Amino acid sequence: MLWPILTTFSLAALVCLHVWWRGRFLRIQRASRTQIEDLQEEKRCAALQMQTQQEVLFDSIVEGVLLLDERGRIQLANRAFGTLFGVTVDIRGRTLMEALRLHELADLVKSLDSQKQVLGYELKLSGLSERWLQVNAAAIFNGDGRRHGTVLVFHDLTRLKKLESARQEFVANVSHELRTPLSLIKGYVETLLDGARDNPEVATKFLQTIDRNAERLKLLIEDLLTISELESGRVKLNLSAVALSSVVAKVLEDFKTRAAAKSVKLLNQVPDLAVRADVDRLEQVLGNLVDNAIKYAGANCTVTVGGNAREGGPMEVFVQDDGPGIPPEALKRVFERFYRVDKARSREQGGTGLGLAIVKHLIQNHGGRVWATSELGRGTTFFFTLDQAIGNLQQPLL
Ligand code: ADP
Repeated sequence: MLWPILTTFSLAALVCLHVWWRGRFLRIQRASRTQIEDLQEEKRCAALQMQTQQEVLFDSIVEGVLLLDERGRIQLANRAFGTLFGVTVDIRGRTLMEALRLHELADLVKSLDSQKQVLGYELKLSGLSERWLQVNAAAIFNGDGRRHGTVLVFHDLTRLKKLESARQEFVANVSHELRTPLSLIKGYVETLLDGARDNPEVATKFLQTIDRNAERLKLLIEDLLTISELESGRVKLNLSAVALSSVVAKVLEDFKTRAAAKSVKLLNQVPDLAVRADVDRLEQVLGNLVDNAIKYAGANCTVTVGGNAREGGPMEVFVQDDGPGIPPEALKRVFERFYRVDKARSREQGGTGLGLAIVKHLIQNHGGRVWATSELGRGTTFFFTLDQAIGNLQQPLL
């Protein structure tokens, strides 16, 4: 009678034990599964974070970087690469030819089959705006020596190339400008030495030409020194409140005789206001503009210096003439060094081709703007801006 009861209890106890063990086992299994999943998730996050960091780092590199796989397909291209080549779409998976259509670059990558790296290769990209790039390329190898891919680094040389070509052009222009008066001087001196000095009339004429060309050389060297000082940022402005009308009066006074010789009328219509400027440099700016107006506007013209003051804004000063004007395509370039609308006319007038470039630099050094408008047959107006000033006025010595 006891046995069946004991057996039933034992069985019940065994079942309970089994249920408890199974529950525990399942709980442990679940817990370890969650732990594994957590670990995997953590690893996934870390990998993702690392990839994001690498991408940010890759994109922050100033140089364009391109990574090709072993089949020559693009694996990675950073942001700078996109900017350099004007690429706006995702080019991963494409070949260089498919993505850029640049035979020269594809050939460069091909050349890495026979050499491990190419350094300092200069690539010229023609298009709307010409670009120069320096390419450094290297083949990447596996531990077992098999080609695994290619890395290319692109450095933008455009600014350097432009500076270099501007420098070369400047040196060529300076040499030409110096050589012309020097050759003339040498020629006339030789003719004088060969006997022309015995004829006083001829000798005087030749000496006057020599004097004129020596003067031109002096002016050119002075202008070159000014330009070089201005461009190197060595010019320190002595800014003060300057009575514009008085400075204009002084400049026009200096040009009175030259203007009278050509029957040019000079007018001062500048309002009685003060500007913040370096008085000597302001005189130089006005002098160059008035000098040009007298030179190029021709006889019987009128040259007016005026100003428009806007409340709270800078003062707009202008030098206007009613001469022949400047054609639109030339007007865009007149502030360039050595640019002349009519070379022969400028030289004949004793111009160095640097006057307006000096004006531009001086006004920009003051923080102002300079520009010109012109109508063929009606005249030209040069404008510049200067900050208005309040305070003790500095008057120029007349
Ligand atoms: P330059 O020494 O030849 O005068 P600038 O730099 O002063 O050099 O001027 C550049 C060119 O702009 C001049 O050669 C001339 O052709 C043109 N130019 C300047 N001012 C005037 C003007 N008021 N009217 C017509 N042409 C002008």
